[in-house]
Amino acid sequence: MVGRKASAWAATSPSGHLSPYTYHLREMGPDDMVVRVMYCGIDHTDLHQIKGELKSNTIYPLVPGHEVVGEVIEMGSKVNNFKLGDLIGIGGIIGSCGDCDLCSSHQEQYCSHRILPYNDVYTDGTPTQGGFSSTMVIHHRFAVKIPEKLAPEQAAPLLCAGVTAYSPLKQFKHNSEKVINGGILGLGGVGHLGVLIAKGMGHHVTVISSSDKKRDEAIDHLKADAFLVSCNEDEMKKAANSLDYVLDTVPAYHSIQSYISLLKAEGKILMVGASPQPLQFLASDLILGKKTVAGSFIGSMEEMEELLKFWVEKGLRSLAEVVKMEYVNKALERMERNDVRYRFVVDVAGSNLEE
Ligand code: NAP
Ligand code: ZN
Repeated sequence: MVGRKASAWAATSPSGHLSPYTYHLREMGPDDMVVRVMYCGIDHTDLHQIKGELKSNTIYPLVPGHEVVGEVIEMGSKVNNFKLGDLIGIGGIIGSCGDCDLCSSHQEQYCSHRILPYNDVYTDGTPTQGGFSSTMVIHHRFAVKIPEKLAPEQAAPLLCAGVTAYSPLKQFKHNSEKVINGGILGLGGVGHLGVLIAKGMGHHVTVISSSDKKRDEAIDHLKADAFLVSCNEDEMKKAANSLDYVLDTVPAYHSIQSYISLLKAEGKILMVGASPQPLQFLASDLILGKKTVAGSFIGSMEEMEELLKFWVEKGLRSLAEVVKMEYVNKALERMERNDVRYRFVVDVAGSNLEE
């Protein structure tokens, strides 16, 4: 048995090019909902995955997209936390075992049986497919309700990029005794939300960027407190030993040595950017300052809800460029050459997805 027919855009090879694709959704079970996709953000992980950079056996055709906002159009008999017509969000995972210590302690994103929204296989054996699609089927445990005060196209980037910044930054949230000095490395989708969220938490925020091009936007629009150009040795030297953390969002190989030196003693590199190549640093640079390089993967479903609430309470606004699906290849190409300000969001429902 298969489920409904869906119209999508998919990659069929690592070339990076997407084209129209029709497939069948998995069959809906009693815990599932069918969602009509409205908007879907474009994350750099989509590009890594399309190009087969993160996994050796990429499953093609691959429908990317994991910052999904849509409307519930059908519900299984056991779903009672949502209703028809609700606007819901789907992010970076769509399943986990539900039983292990990590699942029991609201860290299901680290469950060894987690299921990714695409380039993965669901429990019934069907390949998972993401949000560049007319419809999706989702287990109710992996959906969040979008607050009424939040526009759906604003909500989409929060579901992966936003929570990816929020989850590791949260450990610095409640500290009334001293000002937290944070660094955001790479001002892209995750980075710009990182600046807004860190500012919302009351941190003193320094953007660390590969060029001077985004300085005015960082200071004027995102209200960052300081801006460093990573190749400016003088600026970098002056800022040495000044930061409690650096949220590293860079999607490509880069030396992290110079960012470790920006940290105060006990400071942390919060690594979220998924460089496909191994990164290097000298052990003594960590040892002598009791410093840490820590990874972080998206956030939990609980943190997604927390972030949406925090975002509305603080009245934050992301900078997104809404495009139609016909533009998706151009958008991916622009993302690859660092020409996004600061997130593409695809208007899926407003695009013609038919072949
Ligand atoms: P993005 O929008 O492309 O932004 C990345 C930023 O990094 C760019 O705007 C640029 O900022 C800088 N950058 C880009 N290419 C660079 C290069 N070759 N060298 C140095 N800096 C470069 O990407 P994103 O969507 O924010 O995603 C960023 C990374 O986080 C990706 O690797 C993605 O896979 C990963 N990610 C991880 C998680 C997780 O759970 N850990 C979740 C979402 C995304 P400047 O112009 O300021 O230098
Ligand atoms: Zn588990």
